[in-house]
Amino acid sequence: MPTDPTTQAATCPECDADVSIPEDAMQGEIVACDDCAAELEVLQLEPALTLGLAPEIQEDWGE
Ligand SMILES: [Zn+2]
Repeated sequence: MPTDPTTQAATCPECDADVSIPEDAMQGEIVACDDCAAELEVLQLEPALTLGLAPEIQEDWGE
């Protein structure tokens, strides 16, 4: 995969895969890991972009 200058790399805390984060990602942004499909939250941007597992949001998808 070519390096896209508009993304930055971070590591999935769940499976250690490289995850591409948009350069303009904001703290608290939720991204999905391509490898394990975990939902990851951008915990901090400086000095290094850090990802954590996003809290599970229980959404009502209808019953
Ligand atoms: Zn992962």
